[in-house]
Amino acid sequence: MQYYNQNTKIFLNGEFVHAKSAGIDLFGQSLHYGYGAFEGLRAYNTHNGTRIFKAEEHFERLKKSCESIGLPYRWNNRYLIEQCYELLELNNLRAAYIRPLVFSGSNMHLTSSEDANIMLAAWEWGPYLGQNLLRVNISSYERPNPKSFHIDAKISGQYINSILASTEAIRKGFDEALLLDQDGYVAQASSENLFIEKDYKIYTPPLENVFPGITRQTVIDICKELGIDIIEKKLTVQDVYTADNAFLCGTAAEIIGIKQVDDIVYKEEWEYSIGATIQIKYKNLVLEQENYEVII
Ligand code: PMP
Repeated sequence: MQYYNQNTKIFLNGEFVHAKSAGIDLFGQSLHYGYGAFEGLRAYNTHNGTRIFKAEEHFERLKKSCESIGLPYRWNNRYLIEQCYELLELNNLRAAYIRPLVFSGSNMHLTSSEDANIMLAAWEWGPYLGQNLLRVNISSYERPNPKSFHIDAKISGQYINSILASTEAIRKGFDEALLLDQDGYVAQASSENLFIEKDYKIYTPPLENVFPGITRQTVIDICKELGIDIIEKKLTVQDVYTADNAFLCGTAAEIIGIKQVDDIVYKEEWEYSIGATIQIKYKNLVLEQENYEVII
């Protein structure tokens, strides 16, 4: 996958520069220790023009992520959102994935930094996990313990856990991994939240041990709007195995159904599931084909 070419521009600390000419600091604390924070947003080509879905929520979370690890965040979010739109225009992108990254400069100490840089990049990206129903495994890796990390923050170094889990899943012939929390409950996938469907009700793990996905919250809002029972509850592996259906959600993956967990294949057809209805509703929402205010 090529993320940029000769012409690609990125936003770096207040200026638009060519991605190819932007250097990297080999003594950077973020590079050595994963001390950085990032976000992932999507811009959609809607009938109202290019629109970034829930941009304020994403930048608010970026600010919180930085604050949680003491990385200075001196930018105004409204300004950054405007720069995202400018970035899309400069790169002729109508629909894109947008990646803001906050990173620190040279510092080999294991104490928080006083300086921070920001970059915004964008590229065309289809649904992260594709469009086919997924086969997922219960990972041998657990999610980070909330007492070791700020698991509600999007901190670069924490994604080693996701890389390990999804690489293991793919090596074993699956598409994605489901990770347990430190108490043995199913938490989420490597970079998506999990919902299961059982007897016409939808369940998802509570926020305590899972990442507060913006798509997760959108799904909950959609369920409430459609009058679907949505219950936040700790889920055992058995709950997931015996569900009627399940799906993952995230900005990059959007909403994608699961057909198999380990060697258990769900018997109910995805097309007739509540998840499939939510998937359509979500697509309409991001494309502004419905009245957004009604849902929120
Ligand atoms: N879990 C993790 C660990 C994530 O990194 C993400 C974002 N890719 C999600 C869940 C989904 O979050 P969102 O819906 O806000 O994209």
